Amino acid sequence: LLEASAGLRAARWTRADLDAAVRERIAARRDDGCYRWLDGDASPRDADTGSPLSGLGYALKANIASRGQPTDCGSRLLRDWRPPYDATVVRRLRDAGAHLLGKTNMDEFAMGSSSEHSAFGPVANPWSPTRVPGGSSGGSAAAVASGQAFFALGSDTGGSVRQPAHCCGVVGLKPTWGRVSRYGLVAFASSLDQIGPLTRTVADNAAVYAAVAGHDPLDSTSLDAPVGDPRSAVERSPRDLCVGVPGDLSGDWLGGEAPDPDVADLLAAGLEDLRRDGVSIRTVALPSLRYALAAYYVIATAEASANLARFDGSLYGRPDPAAGTYAASAGGLRGREFGEEVRLRILLGTYVLSEGYAAASYRRAQTARARIAADFAEAFGSCDAILVPTMNGAAFEYGRRLEDRLSMYRSDLLTVPANLAGLPAISLPAGLDREGLPLGLQFIGPARAEETRFTLAAALERRRGFGDREEAPWNSRP
Ligand code: GLN
Repeated sequence: LLEASAGLRAARWTRADLDAAVRERIAARRDDGCYRWLDGDASPRDADTGSPLSGLGYALKANIASRGQPTDCGSRLLRDWRPPYDATVVRRLRDAGAHLLGKTNMDEFAMGSSSEHSAFGPVANPWSPTRVPGGSSGGSAAAVASGQAFFALGSDTGGSVRQPAHCCGVVGLKPTWGRVSRYGLVAFASSLDQIGPLTRTVADNAAVYAAVAGHDPLDSTSLDAPVGDPRSAVERSPRDLCVGVPGDLSGDWLGGEAPDPDVADLLAAGLEDLRRDGVSIRTVALPSLRYALAAYYVIATAEASANLARFDGSLYGRPDPAAGTYAASAGGLRGREFGEEVRLRILLGTYVLSEGYAAASYRRAQTARARIAADFAEAFGSCDAILVPTMNGAAFEYGRRLEDRLSMYRSDLLTVPANLAGLPAISLPAGLDREGLPLGLQFIGPARAEETRFTLAAALERRRGFGDREEAPWNSRP
Protein backbone atom coordinates (compact mmCIF):
# COMPACT_ATOMS: atom_id res chain seq x y z
CA LEU A 1 0.00 0.00 0.00
CA LEU A 2 2.65 2.51 1.04
CA GLU A 3 4.87 1.48 -1.86
CA ALA A 4 2.02 1.95 -4.32
CA SER A 5 1.25 5.31 -2.76
CA ALA A 6 4.88 6.47 -2.85
CA GLY A 7 5.07 5.46 -6.52
CA LEU A 8 2.00 7.57 -7.24
CA ARG A 9 3.61 10.58 -5.61
CA ALA A 10 6.82 10.04 -7.54
CA ALA A 11 4.82 9.68 -10.78
CA ARG A 12 6.29 6.22 -11.35
CA TRP A 13 2.79 5.05 -12.12
CA THR A 14 -0.71 6.46 -12.23
CA ARG A 15 -3.89 5.69 -10.34
CA ALA A 16 -5.24 4.07 -13.48
CA ASP A 17 -2.14 1.81 -13.69
CA LEU A 18 -2.65 0.63 -10.13
CA ASP A 19 -6.34 0.04 -10.65
CA ALA A 20 -5.68 -1.93 -13.84
CA ALA A 21 -3.05 -4.04 -12.06
CA VAL A 22 -5.33 -4.94 -9.18
CA ARG A 23 -8.24 -5.73 -11.51
CA GLU A 24 -6.00 -7.92 -13.65
CA ARG A 25 -5.28 -9.99 -10.56
CA ILE A 26 -8.94 -10.14 -9.63
CA ALA A 27 -9.82 -11.33 -13.13
CA ALA A 28 -7.07 -13.97 -13.09
CA ARG A 29 -8.41 -15.36 -9.82
CA ARG A 30 -12.09 -15.14 -10.58
CA ASP A 31 -12.78 -18.62 -9.22
CA ASP A 32 -11.08 -18.33 -5.85
CA GLY A 33 -14.18 -17.20 -3.96
CA CYS A 34 -12.60 -14.11 -2.35
CA TYR A 35 -15.09 -11.61 -3.65
CA ARG A 36 -18.84 -11.96 -3.35
CA TRP A 37 -19.45 -8.92 -5.50
CA LEU A 38 -17.30 -6.53 -7.50
CA ASP A 39 -17.95 -2.90 -8.24
CA GLY A 40 -17.16 -2.76 -11.94
CA ASP A 41 -17.88 0.98 -12.02
CA ALA A 42 -15.61 2.05 -9.19
CA SER A 43 -12.60 3.93 -10.36
CA PRO A 44 -9.78 5.61 -8.48
CA ARG A 45 -10.70 9.01 -7.20
CA ASP A 46 -8.87 11.94 -8.70
CA ALA A 47 -8.31 14.26 -5.82
CA ASP A 48 -5.15 13.65 -3.79
CA THR A 49 -6.38 13.81 -0.23
CA GLY A 50 -2.88 13.73 1.21
CA SER A 51 -3.64 10.33 2.76
CA PRO A 52 -1.48 7.36 1.71
CA LEU A 53 -4.75 5.57 0.89
CA SER A 54 -5.57 8.11 -1.77
CA GLY A 55 -6.19 6.47 -5.14
CA LEU A 56 -6.02 2.89 -3.86
CA GLY A 57 -8.67 0.16 -4.10
CA TYR A 58 -9.72 -1.89 -1.10
CA ALA A 59 -11.86 -4.92 -0.25
CA LEU A 60 -14.63 -4.85 2.35
CA LYS A 61 -16.00 -7.81 4.30
CA ALA A 62 -19.61 -8.48 3.31
CA ASN A 63 -20.92 -7.72 6.82
CA ILE A 64 -19.98 -4.03 6.60
CA ALA A 65 -22.58 -1.76 5.05
CA SER A 66 -21.87 0.20 1.89
CA ARG A 67 -24.70 2.19 0.40
CA GLY A 68 -26.62 0.45 -2.37
CA GLN A 69 -24.16 -2.44 -2.53
CA PRO A 70 -24.66 -6.10 -1.60
CA THR A 71 -23.94 -6.78 2.07
CA ASP A 72 -24.98 -10.40 2.36
CA CYS A 73 -22.96 -11.40 5.46
CA GLY A 74 -22.26 -14.73 3.78
CA SER A 75 -25.93 -15.59 4.31
CA ARG A 76 -28.69 -16.65 1.94
CA LEU A 77 -31.03 -14.67 4.14
CA LEU A 78 -29.43 -11.35 3.18
CA ARG A 79 -28.45 -12.21 -0.38
CA ASP A 80 -30.51 -9.34 -1.79
CA TRP A 81 -29.90 -6.79 0.92
CA ARG A 82 -28.36 -3.49 -0.16
CA PRO A 83 -28.12 -1.15 2.81
CA PRO A 84 -29.33 2.42 2.31
CA TYR A 85 -26.33 3.85 4.18
CA ASP A 86 -22.55 3.62 4.54
CA ALA A 87 -20.73 2.29 7.57
CA THR A 88 -18.59 4.95 9.24
CA VAL A 89 -15.43 3.11 8.16
CA VAL A 90 -16.59 3.24 4.53
CA ARG A 91 -17.22 6.96 4.78
CA ARG A 92 -13.82 7.56 6.34
CA LEU A 93 -12.02 5.53 3.70
CA ARG A 94 -13.81 7.45 0.97
CA ASP A 95 -12.77 10.71 2.64
CA ALA A 96 -9.18 9.41 2.64
CA GLY A 97 -9.49 8.90 -1.13
CA ALA A 98 -9.68 5.09 -1.28
CA HIS A 99 -12.22 3.33 -3.50
CA LEU A 100 -14.11 0.16 -2.74
CA LEU A 101 -13.38 -2.67 -5.18
CA GLY A 102 -15.91 -5.15 -3.86
CA LYS A 103 -17.33 -7.12 -0.95
CA THR A 104 -15.62 -10.24 0.35
CA ASN A 105 -16.82 -13.72 1.20
CA MET A 106 -17.03 -14.80 4.83
CA ASP A 107 -18.46 -17.34 7.25
CA GLU A 108 -22.18 -16.70 7.59
CA PHE A 109 -22.69 -13.80 10.04
CA ALA A 110 -18.97 -14.09 10.92
CA MET A 111 -19.47 -17.41 12.69
CA GLY A 112 -16.57 -19.68 11.89
CA SER A 113 -12.82 -20.06 11.59
CA SER A 114 -12.39 -21.29 8.01
CA SER A 115 -14.86 -19.37 5.81
CA GLU A 116 -16.43 -22.78 5.07
CA HIS A 117 -19.68 -21.62 6.68
CA SER A 118 -20.39 -19.17 3.87
CA ALA A 119 -23.66 -19.91 2.07
CA PHE A 120 -21.83 -19.09 -1.17
CA GLY A 121 -18.98 -21.57 -1.29
CA PRO A 122 -15.42 -21.66 -0.04
CA VAL A 123 -12.51 -19.22 -0.34
CA ALA A 124 -9.14 -20.38 -1.69
CA ASN A 125 -6.03 -19.89 0.41
CA PRO A 126 -3.50 -18.43 -2.04
CA TRP A 127 -0.69 -20.40 -0.36
CA SER A 128 -2.16 -23.85 -0.89
CA PRO A 129 -5.10 -25.33 -2.79
CA THR A 130 -5.90 -27.76 0.03
CA ARG A 131 -5.94 -25.32 2.95
CA VAL A 132 -8.64 -23.01 4.27
CA PRO A 133 -7.90 -19.26 4.35
CA GLY A 134 -9.08 -19.06 7.97
CA GLY A 135 -12.17 -17.16 8.99
CA SER A 136 -14.43 -15.56 9.30
CA SER A 137 -12.79 -12.74 7.28
CA GLY A 138 -11.23 -15.30 4.90
CA GLY A 139 -12.18 -13.45 1.71
CA SER A 140 -10.60 -10.20 2.91
CA ALA A 141 -7.38 -11.91 4.06
CA ALA A 142 -7.01 -13.98 0.88
CA ALA A 143 -7.71 -10.93 -1.32
CA VAL A 144 -4.85 -9.03 0.32
CA ALA A 145 -2.51 -12.04 0.22
CA SER A 146 -3.09 -12.54 -3.51
CA GLY A 147 -2.74 -8.90 -4.51
CA GLN A 148 -6.44 -8.45 -5.26
CA ALA A 149 -6.67 -5.34 -3.07
CA PHE A 150 -4.18 -2.90 -1.56
CA PHE A 151 -5.82 -3.48 1.81
CA ALA A 152 -9.02 -4.85 3.27
CA LEU A 153 -11.26 -4.55 6.30
CA GLY A 154 -12.56 -7.49 8.29
CA SER A 155 -14.32 -7.90 11.62
CA ASP A 156 -12.96 -9.68 14.68
CA THR A 157 -15.31 -11.04 17.35
CA GLY A 158 -13.09 -13.86 18.56
CA GLY A 159 -10.22 -13.77 16.09
CA SER A 160 -11.79 -13.28 12.66
CA VAL A 161 -9.24 -10.72 11.50
CA ARG A 162 -6.10 -12.16 13.14
CA GLN A 163 -6.73 -15.84 12.47
CA PRO A 164 -7.26 -15.50 8.68
CA ALA A 165 -4.29 -13.10 8.65
CA HIS A 166 -2.23 -15.91 10.18
CA CYS A 167 -3.53 -18.48 7.67
CA CYS A 168 -2.89 -16.20 4.65
CA GLY A 169 0.43 -14.67 5.74
CA VAL A 170 -0.75 -11.08 6.16
CA VAL A 171 -1.00 -8.56 9.00
CA GLY A 172 -4.29 -8.24 10.92
CA LEU A 173 -5.24 -5.88 13.73
CA LYS A 174 -8.07 -6.15 16.20
CA PRO A 175 -8.27 -2.70 17.77
CA THR A 176 -9.33 -1.91 21.34
CA TRP A 177 -13.10 -2.36 21.69
CA GLY A 178 -14.64 1.01 20.86
CA ARG A 179 -11.65 2.30 18.91
CA VAL A 180 -13.17 1.82 15.46
CA SER A 181 -16.81 2.68 14.95
CA ARG A 182 -19.16 -0.30 14.60
CA TYR A 183 -21.80 1.85 12.91
CA GLY A 184 -22.72 -0.13 9.82
CA LEU A 185 -21.15 -3.40 10.96
CA VAL A 186 -23.83 -6.11 11.08
CA ALA A 187 -23.68 -7.17 14.73
CA PHE A 188 -22.68 -10.68 15.76
CA ALA A 189 -21.71 -10.25 19.45
CA SER A 190 -21.69 -6.53 20.12
CA SER A 191 -19.52 -6.55 23.25
CA LEU A 192 -16.78 -8.41 21.34
CA ASP A 193 -17.03 -7.14 17.72
CA GLN A 194 -14.41 -4.80 16.27
CA ILE A 195 -13.58 -3.88 12.68
CA GLY A 196 -9.89 -4.19 11.81
CA PRO A 197 -7.52 -3.78 8.85
CA LEU A 198 -5.84 -6.58 6.89
CA THR A 199 -2.67 -5.56 5.06
CA ARG A 200 0.61 -6.89 3.71
CA THR A 201 2.81 -4.96 6.16
CA VAL A 202 2.65 -3.45 9.62
CA ALA A 203 3.21 0.08 8.28
CA ASP A 204 0.31 -0.41 5.85
CA ASN A 205 -1.83 -1.56 8.74
CA ALA A 206 -1.04 1.56 10.76
CA ALA A 207 -1.97 3.72 7.77
CA VAL A 208 -5.39 2.08 7.38
CA TYR A 209 -6.01 2.07 11.12
CA ALA A 210 -5.15 5.79 11.30
CA ALA A 211 -7.77 6.46 8.62
CA VAL A 212 -10.65 4.53 10.23
CA ALA A 213 -10.06 4.84 14.01
CA GLY A 214 -11.41 7.50 16.32
CA HIS A 215 -14.57 8.69 17.98
CA ASP A 216 -17.86 8.45 16.09
CA PRO A 217 -21.05 9.99 17.47
CA LEU A 218 -23.06 7.41 15.48
CA ASP A 219 -21.70 4.59 17.68
CA SER A 220 -22.59 5.18 21.31
CA THR A 221 -19.89 2.72 22.44
CA SER A 222 -17.20 4.49 20.46
CA LEU A 223 -14.20 5.61 22.53
CA ASP A 224 -13.80 9.34 22.86
CA ALA A 225 -10.01 9.27 23.21
CA PRO A 226 -7.20 10.46 20.93
CA VAL A 227 -5.87 7.84 18.50
CA GLY A 228 -2.33 9.22 18.69
CA ASP A 229 0.07 8.78 15.83
CA PRO A 230 0.06 5.13 14.76
CA ARG A 231 2.09 5.81 11.62
CA SER A 232 5.09 7.21 13.45
CA ALA A 233 4.79 4.43 16.07
CA VAL A 234 5.93 2.06 13.29
CA GLU A 235 9.25 3.91 13.06
CA ARG A 236 9.91 3.98 16.81
CA SER A 237 12.55 1.78 18.44
CA PRO A 238 11.22 -1.00 20.68
CA ARG A 239 14.26 -0.65 22.94
CA ASP A 240 13.39 -0.79 26.65
CA LEU A 241 9.89 -2.09 26.06
CA CYS A 242 9.01 -5.21 28.00
CA VAL A 243 7.23 -8.18 26.45
CA GLY A 244 5.47 -10.81 28.54
CA VAL A 245 5.45 -14.40 27.44
CA PRO A 246 3.27 -17.15 28.88
CA GLY A 247 5.05 -19.52 31.21
CA ASP A 248 2.44 -22.13 30.38
CA LEU A 249 1.22 -21.82 26.79
CA SER A 250 -0.28 -25.29 26.85
CA GLY A 251 -2.14 -25.06 30.16
CA ASP A 252 -3.23 -21.42 30.33
CA TRP A 253 -3.78 -20.67 26.66
CA LEU A 254 -4.26 -23.92 24.77
CA GLY A 255 -6.56 -25.74 27.17
CA GLY A 256 -4.10 -28.59 27.52
CA GLU A 257 -3.29 -28.90 23.80
CA ALA A 258 0.41 -29.36 23.07
CA PRO A 259 1.92 -26.46 21.13
CA ASP A 260 2.67 -27.34 17.51
CA PRO A 261 6.48 -27.73 17.32
CA ASP A 262 6.88 -25.23 14.47
CA VAL A 263 4.73 -22.72 16.35
CA ALA A 264 6.75 -23.18 19.55
CA ASP A 265 10.01 -22.70 17.61
CA LEU A 266 8.63 -19.58 15.98
CA LEU A 267 7.67 -18.05 19.33
CA ALA A 268 11.14 -18.75 20.69
CA ALA A 269 12.77 -17.24 17.59
CA GLY A 270 10.54 -14.17 17.84
CA LEU A 271 11.52 -13.62 21.47
CA GLU A 272 15.20 -13.96 20.55
CA ASP A 273 14.81 -11.31 17.86
CA LEU A 274 13.08 -8.95 20.25
CA ARG A 275 15.88 -9.41 22.78
CA ARG A 276 18.38 -8.41 20.11
CA ASP A 277 16.39 -5.21 19.65
CA GLY A 278 16.78 -4.37 23.31
CA VAL A 279 13.34 -5.59 24.42
CA SER A 280 13.23 -7.27 27.81
CA ILE A 281 11.24 -10.47 28.22
CA ARG A 282 9.42 -11.67 31.29
CA THR A 283 7.15 -14.57 32.06
CA VAL A 284 3.52 -13.78 32.84
CA ALA A 285 0.84 -16.08 34.20
CA LEU A 286 -2.77 -15.73 33.05
CA PRO A 287 -4.44 -18.67 34.78
CA SER A 288 -8.03 -17.57 34.04
CA LEU A 289 -7.44 -17.97 30.33
CA ARG A 290 -8.24 -21.63 30.67
CA TYR A 291 -11.91 -20.52 30.81
CA ALA A 292 -11.65 -18.18 27.83
CA LEU A 293 -12.95 -20.38 25.04
CA ALA A 294 -15.90 -21.66 27.07
CA ALA A 295 -16.78 -18.14 28.24
CA TYR A 296 -16.50 -16.85 24.69
CA TYR A 297 -18.88 -19.41 23.22
CA VAL A 298 -21.47 -18.74 25.92
CA ILE A 299 -21.28 -14.94 25.64
CA ALA A 300 -20.95 -14.82 21.85
CA THR A 301 -23.93 -17.11 21.29
CA ALA A 302 -26.03 -15.24 23.88
CA GLU A 303 -25.40 -11.94 22.14
CA ALA A 304 -25.84 -13.47 18.70
CA SER A 305 -29.25 -14.83 19.66
CA ALA A 306 -30.33 -11.32 20.65
CA ASN A 307 -28.76 -9.61 17.63
CA LEU A 308 -30.05 -12.08 15.05
CA ALA A 309 -33.60 -12.13 16.38
CA ARG A 310 -34.30 -9.17 14.11
CA PHE A 311 -33.74 -11.33 11.04
CA ASP A 312 -35.68 -14.50 11.61
CA GLY A 313 -39.17 -13.02 11.54
CA SER A 314 -40.42 -15.00 14.53
CA LEU A 315 -40.54 -12.04 16.87
CA TYR A 316 -41.63 -9.19 14.66
CA GLY A 317 -43.56 -11.18 12.12
CA ARG A 318 -43.39 -11.13 8.37
CA PRO A 319 -44.74 -8.36 6.22
CA ASP A 320 -47.99 -9.37 4.60
CA PRO A 321 -48.22 -7.03 1.61
CA ALA A 322 -51.79 -8.11 0.77
CA ALA A 323 -53.10 -7.16 4.20
CA GLY A 324 -50.67 -4.28 4.61
CA THR A 325 -49.69 -5.63 8.01
CA TYR A 326 -47.11 -7.74 9.75
CA ALA A 327 -48.34 -11.26 10.37
CA ALA A 328 -46.81 -13.16 13.25
CA SER A 329 -45.19 -16.33 12.04
CA ALA A 330 -44.33 -18.84 14.69
CA GLY A 331 -41.03 -20.52 14.15
CA GLY A 332 -39.65 -17.79 11.97
CA LEU A 333 -40.12 -18.80 8.35
CA ARG A 334 -37.20 -16.71 7.24
CA GLY A 335 -35.09 -18.32 9.93
CA ARG A 336 -35.03 -21.39 7.72
CA GLU A 337 -32.69 -19.50 5.44
CA PHE A 338 -30.03 -19.42 8.13
CA GLY A 339 -27.31 -22.03 7.77
CA GLU A 340 -26.88 -24.77 10.32
CA GLU A 341 -24.06 -23.11 12.29
CA VAL A 342 -26.05 -19.91 12.71
CA ARG A 343 -29.20 -21.77 13.79
CA LEU A 344 -27.22 -23.81 16.27
CA ARG A 345 -25.73 -20.69 17.80
CA ILE A 346 -29.08 -18.92 18.09
CA LEU A 347 -30.49 -21.97 19.87
CA LEU A 348 -27.48 -22.23 22.15
CA GLY A 349 -27.61 -18.51 22.92
CA THR A 350 -31.31 -18.64 23.71
CA TYR A 351 -30.65 -21.59 25.99
CA VAL A 352 -27.82 -19.99 27.98
CA LEU A 353 -29.95 -16.89 28.56
CA SER A 354 -33.10 -18.69 29.59
CA GLU A 355 -34.50 -18.50 33.12
CA GLY A 356 -33.07 -21.29 35.20
CA TYR A 357 -30.00 -21.82 33.03
CA ALA A 358 -28.50 -18.35 32.91
CA ALA A 359 -27.03 -18.59 36.42
CA ALA A 360 -25.17 -21.76 35.52
CA SER A 361 -23.92 -20.61 32.15
CA TYR A 362 -24.26 -16.97 31.10
CA ARG A 363 -23.54 -15.43 34.49
CA ARG A 364 -20.61 -17.75 35.12
CA ALA A 365 -19.21 -16.86 31.72
CA GLN A 366 -19.42 -13.18 32.66
CA THR A 367 -17.56 -13.91 35.90
CA ALA A 368 -14.85 -15.72 33.93
CA ARG A 369 -14.67 -12.79 31.54
CA ALA A 370 -14.09 -10.36 34.44
CA ARG A 371 -11.35 -12.59 35.81
CA ILE A 372 -9.66 -12.81 32.43
CA ALA A 373 -9.68 -9.01 32.17
CA ALA A 374 -8.23 -8.80 35.69
CA ASP A 375 -5.45 -11.27 34.80
CA PHE A 376 -4.50 -9.15 31.80
CA ALA A 377 -4.59 -5.94 33.84
CA GLU A 378 -2.25 -7.48 36.35
CA ALA A 379 0.11 -8.74 33.65
CA PHE A 380 0.23 -5.31 32.02
CA GLY A 381 1.37 -3.89 35.35
CA SER A 382 4.75 -5.41 34.55
CA CYS A 383 4.98 -5.52 30.72
CA ASP A 384 3.90 -3.56 27.65
CA ALA A 385 2.67 -6.48 25.56
CA ILE A 386 2.11 -10.20 25.61
CA LEU A 387 3.46 -12.21 22.70
CA VAL A 388 1.73 -15.44 21.76
CA PRO A 389 1.14 -17.35 18.52
CA THR A 390 -2.05 -16.52 16.64
CA MET A 391 -3.12 -20.11 16.01
CA ASN A 392 -1.64 -23.41 17.08
CA GLY A 393 -0.54 -24.56 13.64
CA ALA A 394 -0.85 -23.45 10.02
CA ALA A 395 -4.09 -23.27 8.03
CA PHE A 396 -5.85 -26.64 8.18
CA GLU A 397 -7.30 -28.65 5.30
CA TYR A 398 -10.79 -28.09 3.93
CA GLY A 399 -13.35 -30.26 5.70
CA ARG A 400 -10.94 -31.19 8.47
CA ARG A 401 -12.75 -29.35 11.26
CA LEU A 402 -16.24 -29.14 9.78
CA GLU A 403 -17.50 -32.40 11.25
CA ASP A 404 -16.06 -31.84 14.69
CA ARG A 405 -17.45 -28.50 15.84
CA LEU A 406 -15.26 -28.31 18.95
CA SER A 407 -12.11 -28.69 16.90
CA MET A 408 -13.28 -25.74 14.76
CA TYR A 409 -13.94 -23.71 17.92
CA ARG A 410 -10.51 -24.60 19.27
CA SER A 411 -8.95 -22.76 16.32
CA ASP A 412 -9.69 -19.59 18.33
CA LEU A 413 -8.04 -20.57 21.61
CA LEU A 414 -5.30 -17.97 21.23
CA THR A 415 -7.41 -15.16 19.80
CA VAL A 416 -10.60 -14.97 21.93
CA PRO A 417 -8.90 -13.70 25.13
CA ALA A 418 -8.19 -10.27 23.59
CA ASN A 419 -11.86 -9.90 22.58
CA LEU A 420 -13.16 -10.93 25.99
CA ALA A 421 -10.95 -8.30 27.63
CA GLY A 422 -11.56 -5.68 24.90
CA LEU A 423 -7.82 -5.38 24.21
CA PRO A 424 -5.91 -4.50 21.04
CA ALA A 425 -3.96 -7.30 19.34
CA ILE A 426 -2.00 -7.43 16.12
CA SER A 427 -1.01 -10.58 14.25
CA LEU A 428 1.91 -10.50 11.86
CA PRO A 429 3.33 -13.23 9.63
CA ALA A 430 6.56 -14.27 11.34
CA GLY A 431 7.68 -17.43 9.58
CA LEU A 432 6.74 -20.52 7.61
CA ASP A 433 6.16 -24.00 8.96
CA ARG A 434 8.03 -27.02 7.60
CA GLU A 435 5.50 -27.34 4.77
CA GLY A 436 6.05 -23.75 3.71
CA LEU A 437 2.77 -22.38 5.11
CA PRO A 438 2.67 -19.05 6.95
CA LEU A 439 2.49 -18.74 10.73
CA GLY A 440 1.64 -15.64 12.73
CA LEU A 441 2.57 -14.20 16.09
CA GLN A 442 0.40 -11.66 17.91
CA PHE A 443 1.12 -8.87 20.34
CA ILE A 444 -1.72 -8.22 22.80
CA GLY A 445 -1.67 -5.02 24.84
CA PRO A 446 -3.52 -2.83 27.30
CA ALA A 447 -6.62 -0.94 26.12
CA ARG A 448 -5.95 2.02 23.82
CA ALA A 449 -2.26 1.11 23.47
CA GLU A 450 -2.39 0.31 19.74
CA GLU A 451 0.71 2.42 19.13
CA THR A 452 3.04 0.11 21.05
CA ARG A 453 1.52 -2.82 19.10
CA PHE A 454 2.69 -1.17 15.89
CA THR A 455 6.16 -0.45 17.29
CA LEU A 456 6.72 -4.03 18.40
CA ALA A 457 5.14 -5.65 15.35
CA ALA A 458 7.20 -3.47 13.00
CA ALA A 459 10.40 -4.38 14.86
CA LEU A 460 9.62 -8.08 14.61
CA GLU A 461 8.64 -7.69 10.97
CA ARG A 462 12.03 -6.12 10.18
CA ARG A 463 13.68 -9.25 11.55
CA ARG A 464 11.19 -11.94 10.54
CA GLY A 465 9.09 -10.53 7.71
CA PHE A 466 8.93 -12.51 4.50
CA GLY A 467 7.28 -10.09 2.09
CA ASP A 468 10.11 -10.45 -0.38
CA ARG A 469 10.08 -14.24 -0.42
CA GLU A 470 9.88 -15.64 -3.90
CA GLU A 471 7.14 -18.16 -3.04
CA ALA A 472 4.75 -15.66 -1.45
CA PRO A 473 1.53 -15.56 -3.47
CA TRP A 474 1.66 -11.81 -3.99
CA ASN A 475 4.89 -12.29 -5.96
CA SER A 476 3.29 -14.60 -8.52
CA ARG A 477 2.17 -12.68 -11.57
CA PRO A 478 -1.33 -13.48 -12.76
N1 GLN B 1 -14.31 -18.24 15.05
C1 GLN B 1 -15.00 -17.50 16.07
C2 GLN B 1 -16.46 -17.82 16.00
O1 GLN B 1 -16.83 -18.61 15.21
C3 GLN B 1 -14.75 -16.05 15.93
C4 GLN B 1 -15.43 -15.46 14.77
C5 GLN B 1 -15.22 -13.98 14.66
O2 GLN B 1 -14.27 -13.42 15.19
N2 GLN B 1 -16.16 -13.32 14.00
O3 GLN B 1 -17.25 -17.28 16.72
